[in-house]
Amino acid sequence: MSALTLVHLYPREMNIYGDTGNVLVLRKRLEWRGLEAKVVPINVGDPLPADADILLGGGGQDAAQGDIGRDFVSRGPTLRAMADDDLVMLTICGTYQMLGHEFLTKDGDRIEGVSVLDVVTKGSDSRLIGNNHIDTTWGRLVGFENHSGLTELGGDVKPLGRTVSGRGNNGSDLTEGAVRDNVFGTYLHGPVLAKSPAFADELLSRALVRRGLDPVLEPLDDSLAEAAADVAVRRPR
Ligand code: GLN
Repeated sequence: MSALTLVHLYPREMNIYGDTGNVLVLRKRLEWRGLEAKVVPINVGDPLPADADILLGGGGQDAAQGDIGRDFVSRGPTLRAMADDDLVMLTICGTYQMLGHEFLTKDGDRIEGVSVLDVVTKGSDSRLIGNNHIDTTWGRLVGFENHSGLTELGGDVKPLGRTVSGRGNNGSDLTEGAVRDNVFGTYLHGPVLAKSPAFADELLSRALVRRGLDPVLEPLDDSLAEAAADVAVRRPR
């Protein structure tokens, strides 16, 4: 079978808490099933591959978001078309924020987003920090959050889940992350897929469906991932 193409946005700038691990988890979970993955890193100026199956982006400091901002915004029409074409996307923290309409930093800078997700983010004086787990349609997702941006959801997205132990999108409405079609945004680092194996497989299955391939993935022994998730859940702060 031809490989699934995992596109990794800005691996240098947007990897503040090891979110690159999400790419490794997806690649490994494919390999364990005898399926191949091709990973394509995208740096400033690189073209996005037309055969992308899953696009991933991690967290970054406000400054890094500013550095890659112009390049990212120039990709807006392509990213919106990819989202409308049901491409699977997993975006964490800084990239999640930039997938929205805008991010107003607490220093008063406006970082324009690409409006793939109907969310807006404003910088605040407090930081929302700690382990977090959320309840979702796809089971428990476990990671940790560390952000000062507060995100509000518009009517064209649904929350990814309901925050149980952490602060979530904004610390006030218990929502965490956002979803539309196959596009997911979340504040969960960790990397989140390392402690949320069912969600990792959900992303892979969606990508296989979109390619017209069999989406049924043979079960894996996830006991270590679940044990790590249990430890994090027992230590909310
Ligand atoms: N710079 C953003 C914030 O603090 C994102 C941080 C991150 O990616 N962890 O809100």
